Amino acid sequence: MRGSTVGSSPDRVSTGGSAALAGAPSSETPQTGFHQPPASTFDTAPIVGIDEALRLDAATDDAGTARAAQARAHEAAAEVLADRGDWRRAYQHLRAAMALVHLGDTPPVHVPEQLRREVDRLRRERAEAREQSRRDSLTATWNRRYLDERLSTLRDGGSGAVCVALVDVDHFKQVNDTYGHAVGDAVLRTLVGLMRAEIDARAPEGFCARYGGEEFALVLPGPADADAVAVCEAVRARIETHDWAAIAPELRVTASVGLACLDPDDQSGTCDGLLDHVDELLYVAKRTGRNAVAHRDETGQVRLAGPASGRRGVDAVARAVTSSARSGRPVR
Ligand code: GH3
Ligand code: MG
Ligand code: MG
Repeated sequence: MRGSTVGSSPDRVSTGGSAALAGAPSSETPQTGFHQPPASTFDTAPIVGIDEALRLDAATDDAGTARAAQARAHEAAAEVLADRGDWRRAYQHLRAAMALVHLGDTPPVHVPEQLRREVDRLRRERAEAREQSRRDSLTATWNRRYLDERLSTLRDGGSGAVCVALVDVDHFKQVNDTYGHAVGDAVLRTLVGLMRAEIDARAPEGFCARYGGEEFALVLPGPADADAVAVCEAVRARIETHDWAAIAPELRVTASVGLACLDPDDQSGTCDGLLDHVDELLYVAKRTGRNAVAHRDETGQVRLAGPASGRRGVDAVARAVTSSARSGRPVR
């Protein structure tokens, strides 16, 4: 998680900071009893706005003083753990602090609103961390985890047809070998920008996710098969015609695409099965000359879209790929 705002409330004056706090060995174990004074060395002001309650509580008796100090220690631990992204344990500490406050006689008049704000902030940060865990670090597009989650909810949610394409850069190893890995990385980032622009323009409900290496999934919920073919063919053409020489002299990049759709009426179809099918079609596109979109038409016949539609031998390659997949022999 980057740029945590925990500890940055305007009403808070930090005298320690996370680095100092992070070294405290007792910071990660919530103490449930409140009779012992805290062993904490945390040097920080509260972050959840329980100052007043704790001050009044502490004024009542010795047990109150110990309880107040211990609540502060829990609170500081929660801050450190939240900074580290360890939300579960931060939450446990925050609950321990709240429990200690509520044990006191002081009516926590101002506490709930302040605590709510703090919890809101923690939730926002958790949502940000969750989003980051679903992004690919190189291209900033969605990653495989997000793809798997979305595919299962799309299928389970009964949201109609789902079309999935796999886009694989052609001869990408050669790009790396010729121009270096940094150029290869720049190609992948640019490629994502091109695919996203095309999806935004033609299928705004769709998204792009990195499937692995130089392979990307395009998920298009809802369109008719013919529209999905048109989107994929537009993506392929956009990649082919892009001015790649702006990245490296004489660089050219093309991609091959396999596309298949789940029939909304076919309840037995699964997204895993769909991806296997898409993978087979991708290899038909590869084996028939690359730089093409392979899909099945309404009769089940494998076709190449656009300018590649006139290529010969598609049927034979499709039969070979399909039968080798059925027999369990490797397709590649
Ligand atoms: P094909 O047309 O058959 O797909 O050939 P290809 O060279 O694209 O496929 P191959 O699987 O042989 O090579 C894929 C290459 O992608 C190899 C790997 O080093 C490269 N690659 C995978 N991930 C990254 C990455 O994040 N950055 C860079 N620069 N290269 C990557
Ligand atoms: Mg590949
Ligand atoms: Mg490739």
